[in-house]
Amino acid sequence: MPTIGTIDNASTAMGQAVRLEAVVKKYGTGPSAVTALRGVDLSLARGSFTAIMGPSGSGKSTFLHTAAGLDTPTSGSVWIGDTDISRMRANKLAKFRREHVGFVFQAYNLLPALTVEQNITLPLLLADKRVDKGWLDRLTRSVGLDELRQRRPAELSGGQQQRVAIARALITRPDAVFADEPTGALDSRTGRQVLELLAQMTRELAQTIIMVTHDPAVASRADRVIFLADGAFAGSLEGATTQQIVDRMTESGKW
Ligand code: ADP
Repeated sequence: MPTIGTIDNASTAMGQAVRLEAVVKKYGTGPSAVTALRGVDLSLARGSFTAIMGPSGSGKSTFLHTAAGLDTPTSGSVWIGDTDISRMRANKLAKFRREHVGFVFQAYNLLPALTVEQNITLPLLLADKRVDKGWLDRLTRSVGLDELRQRRPAELSGGQQQRVAIARALITRPDAVFADEPTGALDSRTGRQVLELLAQMTRELAQTIIMVTHDPAVASRADRVIFLADGAFAGSLEGATTQQIVDRMTESGKW
């Protein structure tokens, strides 16, 4: 099984945000068991922006859930930062996730009664951690919400709400942020702005982002695109254009 993105010198110096070793994920047992991941090896450097692509049923969601500690592998190991999370008990894993992993979904999942600032700092409240005012200010400015801090979600556009969700995902300075079709509910112009923001977060704030998408234009904004097919690694592209990604998808013939 090939290793996806062997660690280069730069990433060794900066460390790894996420590592999967021989990860197998099966659903069910016996003859009806489905193997959704068949031995995935992967290493993602801190400060990298990676897109995960693959046809429907190729294992993208399973990959995201397993790599982010929302689900545990059947065998193999998953490391987030310096911690092996693959054999953690559920309550310890939930606590670890709260402090070390951020999530951005297609639905923004903001709490309507809370202000922008309260929504952003909610993960700290849940983890019983103090707000780092400097980081909050920097994040709020970076996502362009400085003047909207006291607004409530209903008073924001879809793009602005997703910016709140991105700042919320980053407030704990997580080892990695996992994004599942983060622009799926946005019009294409707003979607592009949100993607530019994610790319900017990896560049300027050294955050690590892993994004699942089916859209080649969206994937082209990542530093690297990793392709899955039938639960296994099926190649990767670095710095690819939308057209190069489309060509790769067409070649594989499974889309
Ligand atoms: P993708 O996100 O690329 O569409 P998934 O990770 O959702 O792929 O699914 C990979 C395979 O695992 C598919 O064959 C799917 O039917 C199966 N699968 C996913 N979740 C479950 C589950 N909870 N129970 C049984 N099979 C599942």
